[in-house]
Parts: sequence; structure tokens; C-alpha cells
Amino acid sequence: MAQPIKITSKIRLRDFDPGYDAGLDKEKTREKTTALAQQIGELQQLLYADRNRSLILLFQGMDTSGKDGASKRVLEFVTPAGVETANFKAPTSEELAHDFLWRIHKRVPRYGNIGVFNRSQYEDVLVVRVLNLVPKSVWQLRYGQINAFEKILTDNNVIVLKFFLHISKEEQAKRLRARLEDPTKHWKFDINDLKMRAYWKQFQQAYEDALNCCSTPYAPWHVVPADHKWFRDYVIATTVVDALKKLHMAWPKPKLDLSKIRIK
Ligand code: AMP
Ligand code: MG
Repeated sequence: MAQPIKITSKIRLRDFDPGYDAGLDKEKTREKTTALAQQIGELQQLLYADRNRSLILLFQGMDTSGKDGASKRVLEFVTPAGVETANFKAPTSEELAHDFLWRIHKRVPRYGNIGVFNRSQYEDVLVVRVLNLVPKSVWQLRYGQINAFEKILTDNNVIVLKFFLHISKEEQAKRLRARLEDPTKHWKFDINDLKMRAYWKQFQQAYEDALNCCSTPYAPWHVVPADHKWFRDYVIATTVVDALKKLHMAWPKPKLDLSKIRIK
């Protein structure tokens, strides 16, 4: 089984084990994730001070795969003021009256901030394709359109990190059952999730195509084994820290000569 990877060549999703954990120790890894999350908090301050770049953490995955849980964990130490979250649900009539990227572009985080996309432009080649919401001739063109859109973003200093949270069908069954059995999770149960679960195979195929068609050098996809929440969070936190460190950010130099300023 393949390791969690940044996708650089054609993949088959079935080669990836959703239960992969690299043989790591759960508790020790959790501690490492906490340290990484603290680093993300510090690096975001630099991002904010610099205000020349922003970062999108884009999460896709089947229901219960942990799209909310992962962002909660890795952004634990980031000031709320530095985070902009967007949850993309079924489009409103106003959104449907525009091109599919219109609502997405509006939610791109301002420079200095981290944006969380819980679902994204990819729904338009995932659920839309699986449920036949538009003809194939329409969704087929969208892979190229998404790549062009992400090129525009990255050319304009928006870093795009895309995470596919890969869970197994068995693990999803466990998590859905927990939502039925645990009163503190009842509110999470959505009968619609069962409808989508019935299309498991079709979704896996649609994900595989999205990963293969839209993993570009400027905005690669990452397949994250997500059956173990602690491993999922560790992989994501590591990827975010690496991406932010690569920017070699420093505290901006003052535009004025501060040594000459006196406060009376
Ligand atoms: P959730 O995020 O689980 O609360 O549910 C949001 C729902 O909106 C999911 O079932 C998505 O598949 C659906 N959704 C998101 N974007 C689109 C879209 N572009 N077209 C149709 N359905 C969508
Ligand atoms: Mg749901």
C-alpha cells in the first residue's frame, strides 16, 4: 500500500490504505501534532505581518472523513482573527445563476490569512457528477477550468493545499453508527449521508479522476489516510508547516526609521 503522498503522477485510489499509520505511536504522534499546531500558530503571525500571501487549506472527503475535525486540530493555536472559513453546501439559487467558481472566488482569504475550505470547487466534479446534476459535457470541462482558476490564485500569492481525507467504507459505517448511538452526536446525523454512502463506488471514481486531473505542480493534491484521526491530523499539520516554512518569512522591515520616533 502506498504512503500518504503529494500526488505527482497518475494514481489509483485503491492502492492507498485509509488505515495507514506508518506504524507510529498514537500518543507520541499526538504530542508532535500539538507542537506542529503551535508552529502553525506562530507562522500565521508572520503571514499576517507580511500580508503578501494567503493560504487555503482545502478539505474534501466523504461524509464523516473529518473535514471539520482536521481543521479544528491543526488550527488550534491560530488566532481566530487570522482564519476565514467557508463551508460550501448545495448552491443557492443565486449561486446557481453564476458560473460555478463565482462563489468560490469570493471566499478566497485575504492576504495574511488562512482560509479553510470545507468542500470546494471540487464538489462540481464530485457530487454534481455522481448525481448527474449537469451533463457530462459540462462537468468534463471543469477539471481544466479548476486548474486554470488555481493557477490564477497561486500566481497571485495564494497558496493552495488540497487534502483528500481518505476513509474506508467500514470506518464511515462506524462513525455514522456513533452518530446514531451517542446523544451528543445525534445532531450530526444527516439522513442524506446514507444516500451519498449508497454511491460509494461512484464517488471513489469521481475522487480518483479529480485527483488525477487536478494535481498540478502549483496546487498538488494530498491523499491523507483518514481512518485514524490522530494520523490524519499529523499528516496535515506536517504538510502545512512545511508549506509555510518554505516561504522563508521574516518580520517585515519598518518603512519608517523607528529609532527617530519619540513617544511623548
Ligand atoms: P455537509 O457539508 O455535509 O453539511 O453537506 C453539504 C452538502 O452540500 C453535501 O452533500 C455536498 O455534496 C453538497 N454540495 C456542496 N457543493 C455542492 C454543489 N456544488 N452542488 C451540489 N451539491 C453540493
Ligand atoms: Mg454531511
